[in-house]
Amino acid sequence: MAYAEVAVNSPMAQRRTFCYAIPSHLTVNVGQAVWVPFGPRLLQGIVIELSDHPAVEEVREIAAVIDRRPMLDLAQVELARWISQHYLSPLFDAVALMLPPGFERKAITFIYPVSNPPEKSLSSLTPQQRGAFNLVKRKGRAGLGEVEKVFGKKGAKLIIAQLLRKELVTKEQELERVKIRPKVVSHLRLMVAADEAKREAARLQGKAPRQASLLNLLTAEPMPLSHAKKQVGCSTSVVAALRAKGLVSLEEMEIRRDPLSHRRFIPSSPPSLTPAQQAARQTIEESLPGGKGVVFLLHGVTGSGKTEIYLHALAQAVASGKRGIVLVPEIALTPQIIERFASRFPNRVAVLHSQLSLGEQFDEWQRTREGEVDVVIGSRSAIFAPQPDLGLIVIDEEHEWTYKQQDRAPRYHAREVAIKLAELVGVVVILGSATPDVESFYRAQLGQYRLLQLPQRISLDSSLPQVEVVDLREELKTGNRSIFSRSLSQAISEVLTSEEQAILFLNRRGSATFIQCRNCGFVLRCKRCNVPLTYHSTGEDLVCHQCNYRIATPQFCPQCWSGRIKFLGIGTQRVETEAGHAFPGAKLLRWDRDVTRGRRSHEQILDKFLAHEADILIGTQMIAKGLDLPLVTLVGVISADTGLHLPDFRAAERSFQILSQVAGRAGRRFLPGRVIIQTYTPEHYTVTAAARHDFAAFYEKEIGYRRQYNNPPFSRLARLVYTHPNASACQREAERMGRLLHNERDSRGMPDLAIIGPAPTFVPRLRGRFRWQIILRGSDPSCLLEEIPLPQGWSLDIDPLSLV
Ligand code: ADP
Ligand code: ZN
Ligand code: ZN
Repeated sequence: MAYAEVAVNSPMAQRRTFCYAIPSHLTVNVGQAVWVPFGPRLLQGIVIELSDHPAVEEVREIAAVIDRRPMLDLAQVELARWISQHYLSPLFDAVALMLPPGFERKAITFIYPVSNPPEKSLSSLTPQQRGAFNLVKRKGRAGLGEVEKVFGKKGAKLIIAQLLRKELVTKEQELERVKIRPKVVSHLRLMVAADEAKREAARLQGKAPRQASLLNLLTAEPMPLSHAKKQVGCSTSVVAALRAKGLVSLEEMEIRRDPLSHRRFIPSSPPSLTPAQQAARQTIEESLPGGKGVVFLLHGVTGSGKTEIYLHALAQAVASGKRGIVLVPEIALTPQIIERFASRFPNRVAVLHSQLSLGEQFDEWQRTREGEVDVVIGSRSAIFAPQPDLGLIVIDEEHEWTYKQQDRAPRYHAREVAIKLAELVGVVVILGSATPDVESFYRAQLGQYRLLQLPQRISLDSSLPQVEVVDLREELKTGNRSIFSRSLSQAISEVLTSEEQAILFLNRRGSATFIQCRNCGFVLRCKRCNVPLTYHSTGEDLVCHQCNYRIATPQFCPQCWSGRIKFLGIGTQRVETEAGHAFPGAKLLRWDRDVTRGRRSHEQILDKFLAHEADILIGTQMIAKGLDLPLVTLVGVISADTGLHLPDFRAAERSFQILSQVAGRAGRRFLPGRVIIQTYTPEHYTVTAAARHDFAAFYEKEIGYRRQYNNPPFSRLARLVYTHPNASACQREAERMGRLLHNERDSRGMPDLAIIGPAPTFVPRLRGRFRWQIILRGSDPSCLLEEIPLPQGWSLDIDPLSLV
């Protein structure tokens, strides 16, 4: 007898597998999808491992195989196991990342009447039982849900059990309807040779002109029926007439839902590389054949030719019979970037991201699995594409936070998953960025990654723009209380006069959360955690959102004793209003989450701005997309401070990335660009380094702070968040967990593990639920958490990117 360890699609299964016997009539392999009995139900499962011995005494049998072909290959099964262990997330959730789109289905129970009900049973029925039996008989069969609707959940269960015992009904399980299938479309096919069809058409011309036109339209290739009918302007009867004559036939044919179908790509060939690109390419090329999990960190400013390196490396991989996966942040996955890849590998590129319809995702997934594409390009989850013969993984903008899944388990980071996959399969990874993640750069410094640098922009006439840093403290001293400094005001006026465009950028959606001295720039921080203290209008206190340290809000600045210590925070709406007053003639356009709800609204706003229907675009992070527009010659950062002083140790890094992106992209095209950054802390290393386009300077400072406060990469973090609709219940449970963790840590002797909090989160209430968090910091926080049961309401994030 053979046995299988199966990852089962049930929330009860958690991180473990269940053992099932393989009945002799089934052939079962690792990675295959199967139906297995689980309690009273039949559930989907994926075979993780085969063995000769049952893991427990009593095992049930696998009910059926869902698909003969394994859904996951061996490396993916290993990868799923790693994700489940590393991120402490349910095994099936990890497996599900790799299943075809729309695959997950539930089993539904149906009740059938028997064909010859025994008289004795029928006569002994209670009115309720008779009612249920009649319901089932009348409909031929009834879903369990239908019976429950009439008799309630408990009642239905009881009555059905009684009817089963009386042998009046049988029970069977069937699968929920398939959510997604290959798309099938009716096609018209000529049943005679093309020249004969033409002759027939000529004969029909007089008395049946539409039949003649339809015949003339068709070629040896089958044509979609709807298309043919539309071309000729004919009805189904015309088609029927030709079918009756045996001239055409109707055929159902599978067609591909192609997300790129509306675009045509002109094949292009690569430019000859610059010496710096040559050097980078050569290093990569040397390690590509059999490159066992080598990771390159390609550091180069925007426009330095990184994408060109990816394309070359991919071409080389393809030339040696391998294929690639390219990850791009969702927001950067524009038609332009897809076109760049698609034109270099015509018809051999698949696109995978969440904005596609389920049908398109399904077809792109299938095509990839069939080995029909050389390159899969997509957002975070494209790392799980079933790309055979994988040889190369590229992650562009590797520092982007969207590579981490934050909203649901598994809270994985696509970069870490990619590196693990590369290690399992033995392939090469290229991480590219203008502002590498501090942790990635640190690993490169340690020699774990190989650093490649492209220090210059390709085009000499698009040099980096001049960045001016404006000290807002000085503005205040001269009596300027507007949110626009004199310098920025003047620059905006100039842009308006010369009919160019400006972008006004807010580091984040503003609300007053921290307090800063407007005289000297001082920000109050937690003595223990060094994160800025946060103010909430609900209380007078300033709070640390990591350790719950609280102090009363001071009236005077502890540094300069000025009374100008204020809550800072400006929203996009406020900027819009003030810009309206200051520049009455200008047309304004706002771009933030409040105005961009729909799927295409990003494109619409950008198109509007591109068509010069507005002079000034105001927005947050998302605005980065607009920085490439040809008429934009000015980018103003309203306040660098709002992002810098978030209560999160990565706030400086995040701000540096955003400011660099802003500072590096303005005026890329034709007109010289100008960038103005307003701040109360112009001497902050983040601001000075971003203004000088100096990653190295930023990194040196930042890595020093990380070391000093034992933050990653010098430690690892885990974040536990508890949510509850009741404020005090929320706090109580968080405190109970805090105590439990302390006890557990002490009894297991893990003194290096810091338990920070519990404390209310930065956003203390979300969708009606209060939120508290506990942060664990140490060399291996998972080790403690593995053993701790987390009741409902808790979520766990291993290696969290965000602490707010
Ligand atoms: P990055 O990915 O670093 O932003 P790109 O690869 O997009 O840089 O290059 C920036 C621009 O320079 C693109 O328009 C690209 O086509 C062009 N380019 C890149 N490499 C070369 C080269 N060797 N010769 C000429 N143009 C190049
Ligand atoms: Zn001060
Ligand atoms: Zn603190």
